[in-house]
Amino acid sequence: MRWEPITKPRQIRNVAPNMPDYAKAYAEFSWDKARAQLDGLPGRRGLNIAHEAIDRHAAGARRGHLALRWLGRHGEVRDFSYADLHLLTNRFANVLRKLGVGKGERVFLLAGRIPELYVSAIGAIKNGSVFCPLFSAFGPEPIRQRIGIGDGRVLVTTVALYKRKVAELRASLPSLRHVLLIGSEQQIREIPDAHDFGQLMNEADSRFEIAPTDPEDLALLHFTSGTTGTPKGAMHVHQAVVAHHMTGYYALDFHPDDVFWCTADPGWITGTSYGIIAPLTHGITSIIDESDFDAERWYGILQDQKVTVWYTAPTAVRMMMKVGTEVIAKYDLSRLRFIASVGEPLNPEAVVWGQKAFGLPIHDNWWQTETGGIMIANYASMDIRPGSMGRPLPGIEAAIVRQKAGAVEVVTDSGVEGELALKPGWPSMFRGYLHEEARYRKCFAGGWYLTGDLARCDADGYFWFVGRADDVIKSSGHLIGPFEVESILLEHPAVAEAGVIGKPDEVAGEVVKAFVSLKSSFSPDEQLRRDLLGFTRKRLGAAVAPKEIDFVANVPKTRSGKIMRRLLKARELGLPEGDVSTLEGA
Ligand code: AMP
Repeated sequence: MRWEPITKPRQIRNVAPNMPDYAKAYAEFSWDKARAQLDGLPGRRGLNIAHEAIDRHAAGARRGHLALRWLGRHGEVRDFSYADLHLLTNRFANVLRKLGVGKGERVFLLAGRIPELYVSAIGAIKNGSVFCPLFSAFGPEPIRQRIGIGDGRVLVTTVALYKRKVAELRASLPSLRHVLLIGSEQQIREIPDAHDFGQLMNEADSRFEIAPTDPEDLALLHFTSGTTGTPKGAMHVHQAVVAHHMTGYYALDFHPDDVFWCTADPGWITGTSYGIIAPLTHGITSIIDESDFDAERWYGILQDQKVTVWYTAPTAVRMMMKVGTEVIAKYDLSRLRFIASVGEPLNPEAVVWGQKAFGLPIHDNWWQTETGGIMIANYASMDIRPGSMGRPLPGIEAAIVRQKAGAVEVVTDSGVEGELALKPGWPSMFRGYLHEEARYRKCFAGGWYLTGDLARCDADGYFWFVGRADDVIKSSGHLIGPFEVESILLEHPAVAEAGVIGKPDEVAGEVVKAFVSLKSSFSPDEQLRRDLLGFTRKRLGAAVAPKEIDFVANVPKTRSGKIMRRLLKARELGLPEGDVSTLEGA
């Protein structure tokens, strides 16, 4: 079916978009001009994300402006002005300094969306340390791997998460010097070798001067997954903030009076780049909701908090579509001006549904952990072609490429599928995978960064997502490496071989599905299936563990022993098996 383009008005709810003319903005853009929108550390001492996000506002007219409003699970509300965040993040930076945690050292955060997470993230960056988030729905194994690879020096977490997920790992994490626990004094006292976060914060000085920071100093470490191997720690530097700020302006259309709500969890990069940094650099108000998705709760938040700009994800949009539009009519969402979505393909139906449900289309945009910020987007002023990810941000050169005999060829014909590639050089580009130079190098060819996504570009420069070029799985917007799941399955005594795929799912995009063959002394039955589901869930956590497990006689492999996940997927979906000449035993 062909979808009609959605034509945009000049103003939306009486607000003129920041980018009235895409072609002009793209032609006139320079990163130097974007950098000039930020202050830099006083006395020309460099560029630090925490200064741009908090301190410069706390020292100026925005000091009393609401920076974060936190909505607790049970109706609690806590407000933080820029001045409040300035003092709190100073305190946390002093906590780290006092513990002897310095520049470049990794501070891991494992928590739900609670205020301490936001304070610690920015406080760590302020101290010159590196903020590294862990998703609170990870099980012990993904946590162990990431802290291990990242040489985590500090972990900030809650007592409950520590007891459930970290206590058992502690001995296997020699780099981890300090565990800071959020919880009651009494609970913390019972845990050996842990600090009381609240107590350290109370004792800390609220004055702190950020040390000189080179724009190329490491600030953020975000883990992502590939088809094979361990998780990869994508390294980001302080000057990424130039891209965070600029994309907030152009792609999310931030205006000074905006109330912004990014529903992504800070355990993933969207929740950091846009759930923490970008709105703060603009001095606007962000809403943080501790709870998980609930359609009515969400509409209540949009109404009561007078949200103007909302950044969410396709899975959430699809869940809202299931609930229907009738319920939305009960809420006054007249303040809402701009809705954007990221993380997985946004179906054209969902874009158009937004128009019916909210009177606003949903603006798809594209980026990934490695790019650090939005790269391709549908803008407030630009007509939407439903199903398209939009056009590259000013300062970003994107192309469709094909690799032929080792060379990279740019596809100039419109509509032809190839790999989406970006010309390196924007400030939030990752600077490497920690300790994995070879894997980093493999991402580049012929002067291009290769994204691992397949896409096409139409004659007007709109990009259209086609699929992944590899086997990584996107479930509810979260990237999952099949190899990590297969490795845990192989640790179960009954499992001989395992192959893991993403099975298409109407709501989550994909769900993790595993195929296992058993050792000869085990036979497949319902009890064993349940046992395996429970085993993987306990080790990997609900966000990563398979939702379905099928028993198979053999997991198809190439003659060189590589699991043929594409074949498993084709069989699962009843599709043609394609070229199976390399199949073992073929
Ligand atoms: P992550 O690094 O976890 O943010 O995942 C990045 C990947 O998510 C991309 O390489 C794409 O495969 C997928 N992705 C992100 N945004 C979109 C989008 N708007 N449309 C389709 N896929 C997307």
